[in-house]
Amino acid sequence: MKKREFWFIVGSQDLYGQEVLDTVAERSAEMAAALSEVLPYPLVYKVTAQSNAQIAETIREANYCPECAGIVTWCHTFSPSKMWINGLVSLQKPYCHLATQYNREIPKDEIDMDFMNLNQAAHGDREHGFIGARLRLPRKVIAGYWKDEKVQKRLSDWMRAAIGVAVSKEMKVMRFGDNMREVAVTEGDKVEVQIKLGWQVNTWAVGDLVKEMDAVTEAEIDALMAEYEASYDIATDNIAAIRYQAKEEIAMKRMMDREGCKAFSNTFQDLYGMEQLPGLASQHLMAQGYGYGGEGDWKVSAMTAILKAMGEGGNGASAFMEDYTYHLVEGQEYSLGAHMLEVCPSLAADRPRIETHHLGIGMNEKDPARVVFEGKAGKGIVVSLIDMGGRLRLIVQDIEAVKPILPMPNLPVARVMWRALPDLTTGVECWITAGGAHHTVLSYDVTADMMRDWARMMDIEYVHIGADTTPEKLEEELLVKDLIWKLK
Ligand code: MN
Repeated sequence: MKKREFWFIVGSQDLYGQEVLDTVAERSAEMAAALSEVLPYPLVYKVTAQSNAQIAETIREANYCPECAGIVTWCHTFSPSKMWINGLVSLQKPYCHLATQYNREIPKDEIDMDFMNLNQAAHGDREHGFIGARLRLPRKVIAGYWKDEKVQKRLSDWMRAAIGVAVSKEMKVMRFGDNMREVAVTEGDKVEVQIKLGWQVNTWAVGDLVKEMDAVTEAEIDALMAEYEASYDIATDNIAAIRYQAKEEIAMKRMMDREGCKAFSNTFQDLYGMEQLPGLASQHLMAQGYGYGGEGDWKVSAMTAILKAMGEGGNGASAFMEDYTYHLVEGQEYSLGAHMLEVCPSLAADRPRIETHHLGIGMNEKDPARVVFEGKAGKGIVVSLIDMGGRLRLIVQDIEAVKPILPMPNLPVARVMWRALPDLTTGVECWITAGGAHHTVLSYDVTADMMRDWARMMDIEYVHIGADTTPEKLEEELLVKDLIWKLK
C-alpha cells in the first residue's frame, strides 16, 4: 500500500514573541504525535504559520507532495486570515479545520492575561473559519477536545474519506468488453468522470484476456489453488472448474497490475473465447481490494475499489452488490442482495465454500465456480453513483443487515439480507425517486458521513436516505438540488 500522511498546519502570527511561538510549536508537535498513535494515518506537524509567504509555501508543498493526502489546520493563537488567502486559493488537497484547544479545562486559579493570549483558539478558529467560508472552500469542520474519542473518531473518518479522494484521483478501471446492451443506469460520461473524479476508464478486448489466460502455467494455478484452499472450503468435485477460475484470475490480475488498474468490469454478453464468466476469480480479486462491476458497470466497480480503500486497514468490508428480490412479509421486510456470481467474501459471516453450478445467463460453456456464503449482520450503507446528465449524483442509504432469515438451500450464490432505512418500502420509494441503481456498493465499515465528506471534496451532488427521510422531504430536496446543480 502507498505511504500516506496528513499535514498539521497551525496558525499563529509574529505579534506574540518567540516564547509564545515556541510553546505553540512544542504543543502542536505533541498533539500531532499523540493523535498519530490513534489515527489510521500519521498526522505530521508541519509548521506554526506566521505569514502569508509561509502559508502559501506550505500549501504549495502539500499540493505537490504525493504522500500528503490532506491538511488539518488549527489556530492555537490568533491567525489573521488574510494571510491565508494566497495559500488557500491554490489548495488542491482535502482540508479539515480542527477547532480544538490544547487544554481541556479553564485553570480557574492560574488563569491570567498571559494564559488568555496563548490559548485563544475560541476566537482564532473563528477568524480561520471565516476565510474558509469566504473562499467557499470545501472543508470539514470538527470541533471538540483533541483527546476525546469522539473527536478522534471523526478525524479518523475524515482521513479515510480523504484517502478515498486520493484513491479516486489515481483510479484506473479496466473494462473487459462494453456495458450490457440497453441498460441505462450503468452508462455514464467517462470524460466528465475523469475531470471530476480523476478516473481513467478504458476498454481491453476479451480476446486479449483469453491470450493472457493461455499464457498462465499449471504451476501458477497450483499456487493459487493453495490460496483458495486456505481461505475457502471446497464443496465440489469439479476441480477443473476451479482451476479454470484460477487461470482467469491470474490473467486478469496480471493485465490490471501491468496497467495500474485497481478496478475492472466485464459482461456475460461478451465472453468470446472463454468457457465461463469469472465468478470465483472476480470474488477473490475483490477480496484483495480490486473493485468490480457486473454487466460493464464501471462506475460501481471504481466506487467499490474506493470504498474498500476507505475501509478498515485499507481494504475494508465493502462490496459490489445488487438488489435482487424482496421478502415482504409484514414485520420481516427485507431485501435479498446477491449477484449471478460475484459477491465479495469480505461480507461473509462464516468461512465461504466453493461450489459449481450451471449458469443459464450468458454464453457459459461450462459451470462456473463461485464462493457461496451468507452475509454478516450489522449496520451499513449502500451507495450508488449515477450520471444525471451534466452532473454526478451520489446516493447513500443507511441499511441494517441481518443474518439471512431463510435457509434458501437451492440458491447457488452468496447472499446478503438487509432492511433499508427508514423502513423497507419507504426506503425503496426514496431510492427509486432519487434514481439509485440496482447495482450498489454495500459497506459495513464506511459510513454515510464519510461518503458525505467524500462527495463534498469531489464536488458532486450528495443525497442521503436515512432514518429521518420522508418521500416528501426528499422530493423537495431533489428539486432544489436540481436547480442548484444547473447553476453551478
Ligand atoms: Mn448485475
